[in-house]
Amino acid sequence: MFTGATSPQSGEGATNVGTRRKGTVDLNTVTEVSLARSRADLSALGPTVVPLAGGSALYGEPQHHLTGLVDLMTLGWPSLTIVEAGLEVAATCTVAELSHFPAQPGWRAHPAFYQCCTAFLAGFKVWNVATVGGNLCAALPAGPMTSLTAALDGEALVWLADGTEQRMPVTSFITGNKTTVLKPGDVLRSITLPAHALEARVAFRKIALSPIGRSGLVILGRIDPDDTFVLTVTGGTVRPIQLRYATLPPAETLQAAVLAITEWFSDAHGAADWRRGVAAVLAEEIREELA
Ligand SMILES: Cc1cc2nc3c(=O)[nH]c(=O)nc-3n(C[C@H](O)[C@H](O)[C@H](O)COP(=O)(O)OP(=O)(O)OC[C@H]3O[C@@H](n4cnc5c(N)ncnc54)[C@H](O)[C@@H]3O)c2cc1C
Repeated sequence: MFTGATSPQSGEGATNVGTRRKGTVDLNTVTEVSLARSRADLSALGPTVVPLAGGSALYGEPQHHLTGLVDLMTLGWPSLTIVEAGLEVAATCTVAELSHFPAQPGWRAHPAFYQCCTAFLAGFKVWNVATVGGNLCAALPAGPMTSLTAALDGEALVWLADGTEQRMPVTSFITGNKTTVLKPGDVLRSITLPAHALEARVAFRKIALSPIGRSGLVILGRIDPDDTFVLTVTGGTVRPIQLRYATLPPAETLQAAVLAITEWFSDAHGAADWRRGVAAVLAEEIREELA
């Protein structure tokens, strides 16, 4: 994976021009990787020049439409910052960093950090480079950082290509299987997890077809300090689906709402009807655990 250090695979013609570096690993249509140091450096982004974070999704499959990458990791954003509103997670925060972040007083939801990080079907190499933002932007249904940040009412901050910015819930940021609201040139800057969700009691369920297989479903339930109950269904749906109630609903109400979800996903990791049926069972387990 190219991270800005001299790459042995850069090829004979590779040259460094200031912060610019020619040649890349095996995205062989990419001829230039630049290292971003400030927001101004993101102006190079567009339909054929895209952000590079950990590279674990980007380098995972052919990207014949690309001619360049802009490395976000050199922007030096602080990975995790406790702010008045809660916890600000930089898009460039790695899954490994988030998994090690210590609990703060009152953060009853904290175990969900590690639970979601370990819902990531990947070894230590991927864990240490994959970023929270890259996971959201790749927008795979089995995105464990989507599960966590959606379940905790995360708010995404997007730097738009026109120089302005926009905030939105993570549940709106992801629009489908591998799709988000981002347009060419836009960059996900951070996700803020609000205090009320960090203080919530959380129950987590994950199921996969094989013991260490990619998640077929990741479901989190939450009871906030004001008794609001929130169930977030991910992994088995093309985008995060959230059900919200003023208090814990009766079993039949929750069951009916889960079974009424229509956006189930079918792939090698689970058929849509299996995911729908299992989601109803896991939702009830969560409801009982939090009752
Ligand atoms: C062995 C293996 C197992 C994996 N298992 C899983 C899994 O279980 N679940 C899963 O979801 N994924 C999985 N992946 C895919 C990938 O590792 C993750 O999705 C990872 O979180 C991507 O993060 P990254 O930082 O490496 O993103 P990158 O690969 O750098 O980028 C991914 C995409 O997002 C864009 N992007 C990145 N950051 C930003 C930003 N801040 N703003 C705008 N666009 C941005 C990039 O241009 C690219 O299109 C796996 C990959 C491997 C190799």
